[in-house]
Amino acid sequence: MTITDEGFYTARGYEITAGENALTASMEDYLEMIYRLSQENGYTRVNDLASSLNVQPPSVTKMIQKLAEKKLIDYEKYGMIHLTAEGEKLGKYFLQRHNTLKEFLSLIGATENLQKDVETMEHYVSINNFRVISTLVSFMKEHSHFLSQFHEYKSKLP
Ligand code: ZN
Repeated sequence: MTITDEGFYTARGYEITAGENALTASMEDYLEMIYRLSQENGYTRVNDLASSLNVQPPSVTKMIQKLAEKKLIDYEKYGMIHLTAEGEKLGKYFLQRHNTLKEFLSLIGATENLQKDVETMEHYVSINNFRVISTLVSFMKEHSHFLSQFHEYKSKLP
């Protein structure tokens, strides 16, 4: 999965993440986690989601209803939660955004409170700026001397 995969950046995806129909940070976290948990079986359940997100099942149920109203998931009988095609695209994007930001901070050695910072930053970065960061991550990996120079420079700072 790289930034050159244009699949995540649909016009609709952009509307949902940035437009008037914007998702809350919490909705983004849910979609990211549903996508993550669905990798194995193609669906997840309220209880799995609740324990993965460290929240109570009733909160999950409420959020599931909101996401279903936005047509991002289908909540079926037997408690199975499926992403719709749109929800899947977004979940995939949110997971990639999370992983790339984490990689970015790790590469530059900004590892203090890494998880917490990623969880905050991911919800506030615009799609276009995320793409630039993602490109920088690829660049730094391809040009490791550039990264070494940066770390050397950083280590000399008081
Ligand atoms: Zn996240």
